[in-house]
Amino acid sequence: MTMTATPDLMGAHQPAWPDAGALRATTGTLRWLPPLVEPEECAQLLDDLAAVTRGERVVLQAGECAELFTDSSPVRIRAKADQLYELGTRLRRTGRAPILVGRLAGQYAKPRSRPVETRDDGVEIPVYLGDAVNGRTPTVQARRPDPQRLLNAYAHAARGLRTLATGPATYTSHEALLLDYERALLRPDPFRGGRFASSAHTIWIGERTRAVDGPHIEFAAGVTNPVGVKIGPGAAPSEVSTLVARLSRGHPPGRLSLIVRMGPRHVDEQLPSIVRALGEDAPRVVWLSDAMHGNTIRSATGLKTRVLSKMIDEVEQFCAVLRAHGLHPGGLHLEITPDDVCECVNGDADLATGPTRYRSACDPRLNPKQADILVDRFSELLSD
Ligand code: PEP
Ligand code: MN
Repeated sequence: MTMTATPDLMGAHQPAWPDAGALRATTGTLRWLPPLVEPEECAQLLDDLAAVTRGERVVLQAGECAELFTDSSPVRIRAKADQLYELGTRLRRTGRAPILVGRLAGQYAKPRSRPVETRDDGVEIPVYLGDAVNGRTPTVQARRPDPQRLLNAYAHAARGLRTLATGPATYTSHEALLLDYERALLRPDPFRGGRFASSAHTIWIGERTRAVDGPHIEFAAGVTNPVGVKIGPGAAPSEVSTLVARLSRGHPPGRLSLIVRMGPRHVDEQLPSIVRALGEDAPRVVWLSDAMHGNTIRSATGLKTRVLSKMIDEVEQFCAVLRAHGLHPGGLHLEITPDDVCECVNGDADLATGPTRYRSACDPRLNPKQADILVDRFSELLSD
């Protein structure tokens, strides 16, 4: 049977699953599987995040832009969790205990700006949408969405969580993009009533799918987990206040993180009016700086890259604006890797030669040294 996605769902970046029967069978199986995370753990994260709104703790949410299924091995998960832990140690200088949240054990789906790409030989093929949807191999066949991959996503997330349970203390998170998957993993929350998203401790809604009356925000509004929403340069203050009212009222402080990803200039120009529009809701929100996604550019060689000095500018602007309004900068949301890559460059001058050693499945990540520099700068700003 052929299923074509409705225009509404295509706007929401849902894959055009070619076989509705296979999708139903997969989600039917997912509905009977145990939760990947426990409601007690999500409740603990909510408590931890409330302390961020009081200025007592600080968040580091970081990991891959797009995790691969092959990333779920103990060796890879441990390397990533160790990097988070070390960055957390750097944040301790602020006098605030860090809360570590990995883009880990479930970050397998990507919204893309274009549905197709052109191969070197001129053939147009569908884009890669993340391991939960299609394959990276650049062929039409591999790029066909396969609902069986949703089951594989569950299994790889479970494997990653097993490693995390053996020591590295980090919460998990991913973008709640694939609504079929996320809805199938809703489970009753025996403590707070209603249902929680059992795919991760916290989920966020991306910049492309955060329409106030869209299906992703409806999903986030219906779960008891802490949730995040990305806020880009196009976000109007009235729109953000509607989002905040919808997602945080009736919940304790810390339930909603606003993940600001505007680029340095826009933070300076637009964040103040957003903060003012939120009024009394502003101090109940966890304010995170995603200094990556508003800083993506194409290098001379056509690869996506980001300039570290611009990211530092953005974090500085972010802290300055929040402080000027009596609010706590709550932490960072980053794309990082423990590997020795050079996907982001240090300064504008490096754009002539870089990026090099490019291995990301999607966006350019900070290497360990670059991540240290950015986190150290944030720590310094918080200690001022
Ligand atoms: C991401 O976090 O990888 C992403 C796609 O971000 P955004 O929604 O902010 O563009
Ligand atoms: Mn990304």
